[in-house]
Amino acid sequence: MAGQVLIIGSGIGGLTAGIILAQLKHPVTVVERNPRPGGLMRSYRRSGIDCPVGVHYLGALDRGQILRRLWDAIGVTPLIPLERMGAEGVIDRYIFDDFEFNLPSGIDPFEENLRRTFPEEQCQITMIMADLREISRSLSTFDFLLSPALSDLFPERFASMGERLSNLGCSIRLASLLGVPAGLIGVPLRECPVYYYYITLASYLMSSWRLVDSGTAMAEAFVSQLQSLGGNIVAGDGVAAIQVEAGHVKGAVLSSGRILPADVVIAAVHPETVLSMLPDDMVRPSYRERVGQLENTKGLLGVNAVVAADLHRPLPYNVYRLYTEADGSLTRGIFHQLRESGQPGMNLLSMITTSDIEEWRPWEKTMSGRRGEDYKEAKEKRAHWMIEEAAELFGIRDINLLDVYSPLTIRDGVNSPGGSAYGIMRTTKQLMKVASLNRVPVKGLFLAGQNRLASGIMGTMLGSFQAVRQMIGHEKFIREVAVRLI
Ligand SMILES: Cc1cc2nc3c(=O)[nH]c(=O)nc-3n(C[C@H](O)[C@H](O)[C@H](O)COP(=O)(O)OP(=O)(O)OC[C@H]3O[C@@H](n4cnc5c(N)ncnc54)[C@H](O)[C@@H]3O)c2cc1C
Repeated sequence: MAGQVLIIGSGIGGLTAGIILAQLKHPVTVVERNPRPGGLMRSYRRSGIDCPVGVHYLGALDRGQILRRLWDAIGVTPLIPLERMGAEGVIDRYIFDDFEFNLPSGIDPFEENLRRTFPEEQCQITMIMADLREISRSLSTFDFLLSPALSDLFPERFASMGERLSNLGCSIRLASLLGVPAGLIGVPLRECPVYYYYITLASYLMSSWRLVDSGTAMAEAFVSQLQSLGGNIVAGDGVAAIQVEAGHVKGAVLSSGRILPADVVIAAVHPETVLSMLPDDMVRPSYRERVGQLENTKGLLGVNAVVAADLHRPLPYNVYRLYTEADGSLTRGIFHQLRESGQPGMNLLSMITTSDIEEWRPWEKTMSGRRGEDYKEAKEKRAHWMIEEAAELFGIRDINLLDVYSPLTIRDGVNSPGGSAYGIMRTTKQLMKVASLNRVPVKGLFLAGQNRLASGIMGTMLGSFQAVRQMIGHEKFIREVAVRLI
């Protein structure tokens, strides 16, 4: 197949798939409903400062590490200015009510720190580290992409991480601490599959990075790489319907009425959105039902604020303030990142916490920019709580609010159902159902984006490679795509 490929959505999922296929000489068009491509990769500007949305930090970007190899394979590495985190040996500081833990860079230092902090739990730590090392090795060899037999599907890898820790007899404190990485993919620890848990933790331990400025460089790198390979982007005109004839895709109709013919369509958007674009009779009711029943990850509330640069230096690590129940399960976490803002005299403090769409029901039927004063007040009230907590945590005076975004902002910004941050929740219960969605009942239609395989920048990119593998077949994938990864 070297036919016309149409990709729906220009987030990292859509653009990655587009670049790989353009490298294989397919004519590619990426369609984006927003005026500017990039999805969650794209920052927004307030008072001359670029505020990040979906990229705060990235793991495994050192030479030879997994995300770096993905970036190298599609040729974007030199285009994205990065700085390494952990200059003082710490990438994340976890602050609980009664103890703190510094997450260091590197799997060995992590083990040492765990052993020092939990001297009574040496056996448990030995088991946990063995699992972490084994899964991080299999991730680094791209096993699940390169082996035709999907060798990663050992059932124990999809058991619950929470249960695993409780079977090991971990203390409440150790379990709380180890619960944090599950939150990074929006899944509670007790429902988080062991495999997803460890790949998330391993990727950041391998090495952690952030963009040198939180501006548009990353989105532009993916866009320019696609265009330099001959790919085309149609922005500001979303896909309204996927055209299907005799069970095979034949193109898409855009909101403007424009028709774009295609032999293959890759939908790098939420599966619910994909279903809304397909003719009713094309999809079995059971498939629709499955998609409708799947639970999505929660939304996020994000606050961007400025502090005086001469009083508060940027921190080379992130700070998580964490709150737990009596049984150790995490009830709330607030992520903080304090970094240069790109404007003289000011540093940027970004904070994120989970936020249920229920909190925002009164404005559910309104659109971004037209929600009214009461919505603004509700957002700012929450932002000020977070600012007060941060002021106490860091001893920072004068934190000035720049902007607040809610799950509704994310919903309208990137068309994510219910403002879900990471798409469908990959819990132990839902995992197999989510995987089965990738067998779409329409020929020539493939799913990509964060719902394909895993969320996050690395997970979404891996999903795009997997979608391309499904499209071109394993043999050709190994011959023409995997060679760039190895
Ligand atoms: C607040 C926040 C912080 C995060 N921080 C991090 C982080 O620090 N590190 C990390 O690794 N991950 C992070 N993530 C997760 C990461 O950003 C996502 O997993 C990833 O960007 C998802 O990429 P995607 O391509 O699947 O989706 P998106 O980036 O959402 O792209 C989907 C695109 O499709 C477009 N679209 C939707 N419907 C249509 C249509 N009908 N027609 C045309 N286009 C359409 C949307 O407008 C959008 O541009 C964060 C996420 C959020 C929400």
